[in-house]
Amino acid sequence: MAWSNEHQGPTMKSFAAARCVFLLLSATWSATAFAQSVDTILINGKIVTVDDQFRTVQALAIQGDRIVATGGNEEVQKLKGPATRLIDVQGRTVIPGLIDNHAHYMRAAEYWHREVRLDGVTSRKLALDLMREKVRESKPGEWVVVLGGWSEEQFTDEARGFSRKELDEVAPENPLALQLFYFRVYANSPALKAMGIEASSPEPANIKIDKDAQGQLTGTLNGGASIGLLRSKLGEVAREKAVENVRLLMADLNRMGITAFQDQGGTGVLPNHIKAFQLAHDAGQMTVRSFYNYYEEPKSAADVENLLARMPSIKPFQGDDWFDLTGYGETLYFPLHDALLTKSTNPSAEALQLWQRLGLGLAQNGIHLNVHAQLRGSIEGFLAAMEAINKEKPIRGLRWTFSHLDQAQPQDLERMKRLNVYAQIHSRPTIQGGLMFKVHGDLTYDMPPLRMIQDSGVPWGLGSDATAVTPSNPFYTLWWAVTGKMIGGKQVLKQTITREEALIAHTRSNAPFLFQEANLGSLAPGKYADLLVLDRDYLTVPMDEIKDIKPVLTMVGGKIVYGSVNK
Ligand SMILES: [Zn+2]
Repeated sequence: MAWSNEHQGPTMKSFAAARCVFLLLSATWSATAFAQSVDTILINGKIVTVDDQFRTVQALAIQGDRIVATGGNEEVQKLKGPATRLIDVQGRTVIPGLIDNHAHYMRAAEYWHREVRLDGVTSRKLALDLMREKVRESKPGEWVVVLGGWSEEQFTDEARGFSRKELDEVAPENPLALQLFYFRVYANSPALKAMGIEASSPEPANIKIDKDAQGQLTGTLNGGASIGLLRSKLGEVAREKAVENVRLLMADLNRMGITAFQDQGGTGVLPNHIKAFQLAHDAGQMTVRSFYNYYEEPKSAADVENLLARMPSIKPFQGDDWFDLTGYGETLYFPLHDALLTKSTNPSAEALQLWQRLGLGLAQNGIHLNVHAQLRGSIEGFLAAMEAINKEKPIRGLRWTFSHLDQAQPQDLERMKRLNVYAQIHSRPTIQGGLMFKVHGDLTYDMPPLRMIQDSGVPWGLGSDATAVTPSNPFYTLWWAVTGKMIGGKQVLKQTITREEALIAHTRSNAPFLFQEANLGSLAPGKYADLLVLDRDYLTVPMDEIKDIKPVLTMVGGKIVYGSVNK
């Protein structure tokens, strides 16, 4: 796309200003010692601070973008002045803003205005209605797409995909297509035409065109290349629209309770995707703190050498607490990127050597690494490579992280502890659980081994992996971690954790991945006022209702970015 310029980091100005306020306030945070009145006070809350003692308080005071005091109603209200905004949360539960440690939102923002999301939709009929509604509000010929985040198994009325015929009924004139994970597309006739697929077409590389007994197109395209083909036809998004889409996406995330995330790039991520977030940042329009890892897909020895030569130019931490580059992820050497829905993986010594060369380069340049690893072969291979790298250049201080770890074993976690390697665990079974059983059988119940990881002492946090392979809603992730169920209700995980453990994992424990533990993750004096006022009590609501919890109000940096306490 044409409008990308050289990536420019945001200025340090706002970061430096925030630091000054922090230093000033941290010395004077206690309610009685705070001489001047504050901007905002929340009272009458069940404020779950998620501090290291998991304290609950009634009230909280905010000055500028940070919390300056927490405590009882009476004590904190001593900080009230004539200009203080008093928010009575009327007994509601307040929790820290939820941090998603692993998502692909930068890539997802591009076509957000064309997307229908089926996140949490358990009725196939409702899914069709949602698509119909989107078509109705679209201009003739405009694409309508579902770019993942759903599975057939989540539908409790009819667990199956969509035919060309029924998609044609929903959208006779608009191209309509659904991406299923990274391996299938369901398309209507206009979408097939736009993709150049006809009944007589020769099959493009790595795409299997499905036909019925009469040789007619069913609308199903199998194979990972079908996703790339679909995306290539969605058209260029103008710069202004791309920035607006960033705002729309962030507004949706605020509504669901996300106040910060770490983006892991992913296949198809472009410099323009990051640029759109940077433009939103520079225009002062951020409502979700957006951190990202630098992403590439080296596929050969030559690519590896090329990337190694450029590695010193990857410079994390030049941004601020709204938008910053944190490191490198989640694919170091692309041929070793394993797939959850394959039975096993067996990385070659040669490929692991290339992985190790890149890893050593990152270590030598002092760069944080987040590495995707799901199956035993990958986990063991990468751990051995990390141990070898650590002998040459210690990695303890770099917070290297495994993403996913679906088949981790106790011995892996012990090796991770020795290296100070962290773990990110993701709620992909909320929609992939059904398919995982077909490949992994009863092993699925322990994938990922959530209880084992929680008890291991490895620093770890919860995230989604949205938007192609999971929904974005963080309350689905919390619900899955506590109940072990996938959307639709099927039990897919036996290693569950408590709701307190899950909440810590989705807030305080995620801050270190963003290198933001001084600022984010709990509601304590000195930290940013990033918080959610909930419509029901996370700690006492029946377990199955955790997925239905919604913020009534979301605040980021002391500003209300969604909702109000009065609705
Ligand atoms: Zn991944």
